[in-house]
Amino acid sequence: MKGPDPQTDASTLRGKTFSLREHTENSDEYYSTIATLADSLLNEKWKIADLLSEIRKLGRSKRRLRGLVRHSDNNSREAILIRRLRAELSRYTPDVQSHLEGLSPLQRWDRILATSEEQYHVYMLEIELVNRLYGEDFRQSSIKLAFLPHCLRDLKADCQAAQRDVDYVCKGCTVGCNVNNASKLLRRHGVKPYIWMSANLRSLFKRLKREGNSVGVLGIACIPELVRGIRLCMRSGVPVVGVPLDANRCARWWGEFHWNTVNLQKLETLLAG
Ligand code: SF4
Repeated sequence: MKGPDPQTDASTLRGKTFSLREHTENSDEYYSTIATLADSLLNEKWKIADLLSEIRKLGRSKRRLRGLVRHSDNNSREAILIRRLRAELSRYTPDVQSHLEGLSPLQRWDRILATSEEQYHVYMLEIELVNRLYGEDFRQSSIKLAFLPHCLRDLKADCQAAQRDVDYVCKGCTVGCNVNNASKLLRRHGVKPYIWMSANLRSLFKRLKREGNSVGVLGIACIPELVRGIRLCMRSGVPVVGVPLDANRCARWWGEFHWNTVNLQKLETLLAG
């Protein structure tokens, strides 16, 4: 099946597999949906750390997730949770199936490219829960770093970003650039923004901690990459928060880069607490 054309769909910001603002001016509706869903689950019988641990476990097995969705007579707690996520979130993941069907045998070994639709849904909830769990610790950290994807830059500009202490830094060469806009916002909140190109996060965290700093990290990336980065930070004991890109539109997914956005209002809320 032919996937969406990112050029003709640019006005609606359609992603290869997920689109948080395809039919809307921004992704506010998505953030309202995921927040309401998390509130509702936490108001029922889930504790936040237990729910996070449960969905991380469930997210490991695509086959198990698929089974929980398909067997509607399964009324276990996990099955009800996964079907509920699907009911609320599948409108943001319209093209996962056609994307998966178009993968080559080699590409199917790429865990990021081969993320299943149910995994997208548990990852969405995982990001929301992590932001709630670690938001305050992140904001209280003595050193706050943000890592932005280079695909968020203005693709028409001759990017002047330059390598600095940790990684590349935006030089603000054009006003319409979304890396520039996000970087300005981050700096206003005392966060040092970097374009993630080559930084080795594990050794960076070790060095900063050895020097007596408390370090917190904010990530912006497509959903599966963001979850991978969040887990890396958690394994290193670093308070982490994240905001997904509004869609996945970079060369890894499309073979070429396409203009992309991130919800700056959500970013501001996360930074302000
Ligand atoms: S504003 Fe920053 S990230 Fe954007 S093109 Fe210029 S230097 Fe690169």
